[in-house]
Amino acid sequence: MSERALALAVDIGGTQLRVALVDEAGRIVSRASAPSLAKAGPEANVAEIVALARKVGLAQARERVVAVGIGAPGPLDSETGTIIDIPTLVGWRDFPLREVIGAAFGLPAMLENDGVAAAFGEWVFGAGVGCRHLVYVTVSTGIGGGVIADGRIVHGRRGMAGHVGHISLASEGPRCSCGAIGCFEALAAGPAFAAAARSRGYPDAPAVVAAARRGEPAALEIVDREAEILGRGFASLAHLYSPERIVMGGGVAQGFDVLGPRIAASFARHAMAPFRDVAILAAANGDNAGLVGAAALAHQQNCRA
Ligand SMILES: [Zn+2]
Repeated sequence: MSERALALAVDIGGTQLRVALVDEAGRIVSRASAPSLAKAGPEANVAEIVALARKVGLAQARERVVAVGIGAPGPLDSETGTIIDIPTLVGWRDFPLREVIGAAFGLPAMLENDGVAAAFGEWVFGAGVGCRHLVYVTVSTGIGGGVIADGRIVHGRRGMAGHVGHISLASEGPRCSCGAIGCFEALAAGPAFAAAARSRGYPDAPAVVAAARRGEPAALEIVDREAEILGRGFASLAHLYSPERIVMGGGVAQGFDVLGPRIAASFARHAMAPFRDVAILAAANGDNAGLVGAAALAHQQNCRA
């Protein structure tokens, strides 16, 4: 067996808990997942994470595991390692997750917003390799992301920078998970795309993407509308951060073959001229983006320690 160092990666999502052992090259050695316990509180979820770590073989690999990297939905304080709140899970307010997980495994631990962790993973091992300036946007149940600028993660106060889903794009529209009206997330995340699909008789977002691939006009209209909003949001992000690339991940990115060119066209309409050559790419780490990113952060932190 190889003697490469491993990180234990933990990805806490609104619907899934994922745990993996990941080597320094970003390769997933083993992984396991279970449904998030949305109503059971953080301690029950931590117990489930410990059980998943057993499944991925932590005990057998223990001598090679250097740290735990945790990605979780925000808002969270990555400086103190504390969850501020997770709107989709009950009872997490002000929960000291980094300390609790570190103690549960007897390992150094780091906590990062899941979007920031995925951004870091794409930068080090995915579609952002070789960039100094990168914006990553995940479009799934919500819109999250992270920013790499000048060759480092942009953290901001309490590590809360890069909540890209909550830039305000409209004064009217559906209410966002954050409580506001008109957020990028409320207008363009998976639920809004799926609602638009249903309004034209398609059961869900994947169905409308498939129909768009076949050239159905109603489906193309819905895809055009989704791409229009995504391009508008990406243009704002380009103006703010001047990235070389914008990388899109999350479930909605599974339709990137039809969405991508339309997002680029919308982006070109909304971006100022010097920004129009910014590349918009699909994420490379797919479903594993959060795990790979959290592990990469754990390996990096361990090297610095
Ligand atoms: Zn919002």
